[in-house]
Amino acid sequence: MSGRARESGCAARTARARELTADASPAADLLGFYAALGEYQQRLAEQSASASVVSGFSQTSGSLLQAIDADWVGRAVREFAHWLVRLKPDATYLRDVPEDEWRTLFESYRANPDEATARCSDAALFALETVLQPIAERLAAIWPACGANASNSRCLICGGAPVVGVLREEGHGARRRLVCGLCLTEWDYLRLTCVKCGEQRFDALPVFTADQFPHARVDACDTCRSYLKTIDATKDGRAIPVVDDLATVTLDLWARDQGYTRVRTNLVRI
Ligand SMILES: [Zn+2]
Ligand SMILES: [Zn+2]
Repeated sequence: MSGRARESGCAARTARARELTADASPAADLLGFYAALGEYQQRLAEQSASASVVSGFSQTSGSLLQAIDADWVGRAVREFAHWLVRLKPDATYLRDVPEDEWRTLFESYRANPDEATARCSDAALFALETVLQPIAERLAAIWPACGANASNSRCLICGGAPVVGVLREEGHGARRRLVCGLCLTEWDYLRLTCVKCGEQRFDALPVFTADQFPHARVDACDTCRSYLKTIDATKDGRAIPVVDDLATVTLDLWARDQGYTRVRTNLVRI
């Protein structure tokens, strides 16, 4: 089984966000913001290909994040924070964070992502992950997967938690895959299992849909009260899971009202 595949790059995600914005999606503002981020990430991906972003590169030792140069990340996040203020004038406090603090945040994030995520503000994580994502995505394309099996609920490349699920065509049916929230790698996962706690009892795993979004659903778990958004790419072949996730933010608002929590917040911290 090959568990690997990934989104088709910043440019494709930006184009999909623009397309959905033009469809007058209820999340048009959010998608417009995401498209602007995608263009910024595209430029970062191009710059990082020629700069010395990767230090001590060795595919056989350490995690993917260990290979990224922390000084570069510190500078890049600070530059991003300056750019962001033009779109979000209320983000000036991010612009004032010095380079070495971003560097320190990145070092704790790569040492223990779950702990750093729990301790850090959403705004700081948003800035850090926006910068890291295109680099992690590029590195993931050449990084070896480890421990591939269908019960692995963490990314096989960078160890990150999944941000969204996707159903892909397989024969006459569909297979369920998970998408990493950082490096965007996709991998196969069990069809009827909670990603968070491993619950497998059918009655404890309700699925919620809305007529407005025929290709999206909420896979919830009544045992741990978490949910994962799933995008059904068999119903819309143009869908890009992390972008269509934003276009269907109404489902998140509904799930939150029911007392469910997302397994992992997405890039824009929903
Ligand atoms: Zn990953
Ligand atoms: Zn659960």
